[in-house]
Amino acid sequence: MKSVDIIVIGGGLSGSATALGLMRQGAGKVVLLDEQLPSQRLSRGNFGLTWFMCKGANNPAYAKWCRRAAMQWPDFAAELEEETGYNVELEWNGGAVHAFGEEEFRNYSESIAALKKVCGEVGLDYPVRMLNRSEFADIIPDMQLGEDVSGAMYTEEQGHVNPLKLLAALRCNFQKMGGKYHGSRSVHAILPHKNGTVTVKTSQGDYQCRKLVVAAGHGSSRLLASVGEKLHIYPQRGQLMVTERHERRLKVPLLSVRQTPDGTFMIGLSSEDTALDTRVTPEAMKSQAANAIRLFPMLGKLNWVRAWGAIRVMTPDGAPIYSRVQGHGNITVLALHSAVSLAPLQASAIASWILGSDEDEQISQFSNGRFHV
Ligand SMILES: Cc1cc2nc3c(=O)[nH]c(=O)nc-3n(C[C@H](O)[C@H](O)[C@H](O)COP(=O)(O)OP(=O)(O)OC[C@H]3O[C@@H](n4cnc5c(N)ncnc54)[C@H](O)[C@@H]3O)c2cc1C
Repeated sequence: MKSVDIIVIGGGLSGSATALGLMRQGAGKVVLLDEQLPSQRLSRGNFGLTWFMCKGANNPAYAKWCRRAAMQWPDFAAELEEETGYNVELEWNGGAVHAFGEEEFRNYSESIAALKKVCGEVGLDYPVRMLNRSEFADIIPDMQLGEDVSGAMYTEEQGHVNPLKLLAALRCNFQKMGGKYHGSRSVHAILPHKNGTVTVKTSQGDYQCRKLVVAAGHGSSRLLASVGEKLHIYPQRGQLMVTERHERRLKVPLLSVRQTPDGTFMIGLSSEDTALDTRVTPEAMKSQAANAIRLFPMLGKLNWVRAWGAIRVMTPDGAPIYSRVQGHGNITVLALHSAVSLAPLQASAIASWILGSDEDEQISQFSNGRFHV
């Protein structure tokens, strides 16, 4: 049996960013194990937003956490490129959520006021404002707005990345720093011992580690059930569509439409409570396309070339779970939606917290235990 310092189960964005952070902070021998099931393609099949806007309306801790992550993104991307040569294509041109009609515009204005108040209570700025139709048109001058667009919610301080390059850069950086990554290696069981070590049984041999991080997305529930922890996550499907390439026109990403640097438009906003079913549906495609064309009529002239579904790791309040397993302080579980946006914090604050060097007061508000009733 191989003996290492830390094992991270799950090589998606969450596990990979955390494993990288552990190496950066001198954690010793760290092994990242991933079984790469096709149904768990979440970290490759997402929208790539590095976003804080609208997050945490009912949860100041989460609003603050997302804002803190967004502030770290430009340096985080620069460091990844410097250390790996991967350009994750971060564009930091702001981000927007369009409004149709006066009522939606008013509702968004009110939600900004509410979030400013929530953030203000914890000493945090919330640099988001409403743009009227002509102000919105000014920030995306090459896109013609549909006639129903009344304006948009907007911030300068967020952006988007290429999620495929991000995942590759995280894993590459982790390995360059001496971490060991094993794809196609399924973990069957975790067995904690009285002395605090944990045996991890895999499809290709067993390991012993001092600390275990479970970041296996929807695979985490089964692994944790064996140590008596009920993980409070549920599957939520999102569907995305991609167009053929077009000359670059949209440099500010919207929540439902963005154009990548290579010219494709990505479209998506659906959320459905399904079981682990990644199929796309004509209903969602139709409604997303209609929404996108109502926003930018020129999209109706482009061919859609691909579509896919992926299953979000959702919690009842939408905020992450960062938790030590009850009775097994050396086992940590990480389960989150928004792992693109939160990647810089996984590699910094979460990694320090796992190593025990930083008992971050914010992290304690994201325990799995908050859902026990
Ligand atoms: C349509 C859509 C759009 C999205 N857009 C955004 C966005 O714009 N911005 C944003 O921040 N977030 C977005 N997300 C969410 C984001 O994609 C997820 O938060 C993120 O991918 C979760 O990463 P993860 O590592 O936690 O999980 P996963 O990517 O599911 O990784 C878990 C890994 O664990 C492995 N695993 C599971 N069980 C085992 C086992 N027993 N042994 C070994 N390995 C195992 C799996 O193979 C998998 O690779 C979006 C999600 C969807 C569906």
